[in-house]
Amino acid sequence: MVELAKSFAGVPAVTGIDLDIPAGQFYSLLGSSGCGKTTTLRMIAGFEKPDSGRIELDGRDVVGDPPHKRPVNTVFQTYALFPFMTVWDNVAFGLRYQKASKAESRKRVGEALELVAMTDFATRRPAQLSGGQQQRVALARALVLRPRVLLLDEPLGALDAKLRKRLQLELRAVQREVGITFVYVTHDQEEALTMSDRIAVLAEGRVEQVGAPTEIYSAPATTFVAGFLGAANIFDADVLESSDGTAMCAAFGTRLGAAVDGPAPVGDAAIVIRPERIVLQAAGDPVSEGQNVIRGTVAEVVYLGASTQVHVDVGAAAALVVEVPNTAGPNSVPHRTGAEVACVCAHDAVRVLHRSAASPVSDPVIEQEPVSSTS
Ligand code: ATP
Repeated sequence: MVELAKSFAGVPAVTGIDLDIPAGQFYSLLGSSGCGKTTTLRMIAGFEKPDSGRIELDGRDVVGDPPHKRPVNTVFQTYALFPFMTVWDNVAFGLRYQKASKAESRKRVGEALELVAMTDFATRRPAQLSGGQQQRVALARALVLRPRVLLLDEPLGALDAKLRKRLQLELRAVQREVGITFVYVTHDQEEALTMSDRIAVLAEGRVEQVGAPTEIYSAPATTFVAGFLGAANIFDADVLESSDGTAMCAAFGTRLGAAVDGPAPVGDAAIVIRPERIVLQAAGDPVSEGQNVIRGTVAEVVYLGASTQVHVDVGAAAALVVEVPNTAGPNSVPHRTGAEVACVCAHDAVRVLHRSAASPVSDPVIEQEPVSSTS
């Protein structure tokens, strides 16, 4: 996609999207509500016409092609199955228009149902299936046509959390097996991290960052991406000097070694530190060489079950949040409110960020409801 743009009644929905989606990948478009994910997907499918830009498939611009002439197929959040047809007939339906012989059609429908583990349900009607089973049929119906690209618009959005998690892994396995390019739209960062080869994070109609899940999470490029994916401590900082992928910064009165993608301009910037990259120590404990040390006072201890979040007052506007895994049970954090502590982290746990033009979505530091507060 090259400089793709689309407005509705003068209001921009997509403002210039450039994406290169490699064949055979599970590629996610991730972003919050209204950022232009569905509009982008609908332009690839041919349901919306871009105001400008190109959509190339195997090197050919398909913008002028109607939806049914494009080698793509879409799976929506609502399954849109034909209610009076059996599962088998729903899956076979599209093959009528592909001039497949009866024998060929039978073989392909059988294979598609097997792929999504629905062979035993072939004679049922959609109303006799659970939501997850209906979505599997919708997937089989799209795959049976053997598109070059399968577009999926929040296909698991209507399912409960447990089923979603199971189907995420199943969908990933199906994609690996068929090798078709999947373009997957979701607002759920965990879902995108679980399933994707690559993720494009979108905000306000633009691409903020593209990368593998590990890259997007551990080396976010912008303040928006850092805040959108997972919990993040984001602070204003001054870059004092930088060279060869490292930088020395000053934030809340502390000097910190940090990692940068390219040369970072000296001066005003922002940094992010993931809460799980910080080790909490008593103030007097020795610190090994080459580590960052941030000194502060425990402001709050929040027990979350699998981990405990410790909010440390480090003299900045917001507390520094440290995530301690509860490996030693509920009393894994020996520090109480008011205790002097040292927050220790490696230089590569601190990342220098570009300030994003997009507004942050919310304060994601506390993502889970506390089980109880032990402060
Ligand atoms: P969601 O996750 O809520 O579906 P999204 O990221 O998929 O959001 P889009 O559906 O692409 O976002 O919408 C982007 C913007 O374009 C929104 O502000 C939306 O209101 C607007 N928009 C989308 N379709 C239309 C339309 N047909 N007419 C007018 N405005 C539209």
